[in-house]
Amino acid sequence: MTDCIFCKIAKKEIPAEVAFENDDLIAFNDRNPLAPVHILIIPKRHIASINDFGMADVELVGQMILVGKNIAEDLSISEKGYKLLFRVGEWGGQEVPHIHLHLIGGARLYEDIYPL
Ligand code: AMP
Ligand code: ZN
Repeated sequence: MTDCIFCKIAKKEIPAEVAFENDDLIAFNDRNPLAPVHILIIPKRHIASINDFGMADVELVGQMILVGKNIAEDLSISEKGYKLLFRVGEWGGQEVPHIHLHLIGGARLYEDIYPL
């Protein structure tokens, strides 16, 4: 999609700090991190949100979760724990209409300081 900021990141038209990439997915640091680790995992193919998620996307979205898990392991935050979060639509707080999985961690996320 031409006007989508995350499509542009996937196509390297906008810079990002890339944490992982393969043919289908790219993961990069959130530019406004809410915790010490805050990475967004996106498919390179445009899917607007979980509301548009269908059987044809099951493997892709499954891969997103696996990549989140693998990055968490690489960053040594798995044992303590972390969050994987999809926001969906306006009331879910989704600002960018290209599906993305937040990997958020590196701190206790249930205390006042990180009310996520
Ligand atoms: P959401 O509210 O779930 O749609 O999350 C969108 C996230 O994308 C926010 O956490 C933003 O900080 C992040 N974001 C927006 N534009 C960029 C960008 N160009 N590079 C990195 N992160 C971005
Ligand atoms: Zn897009």
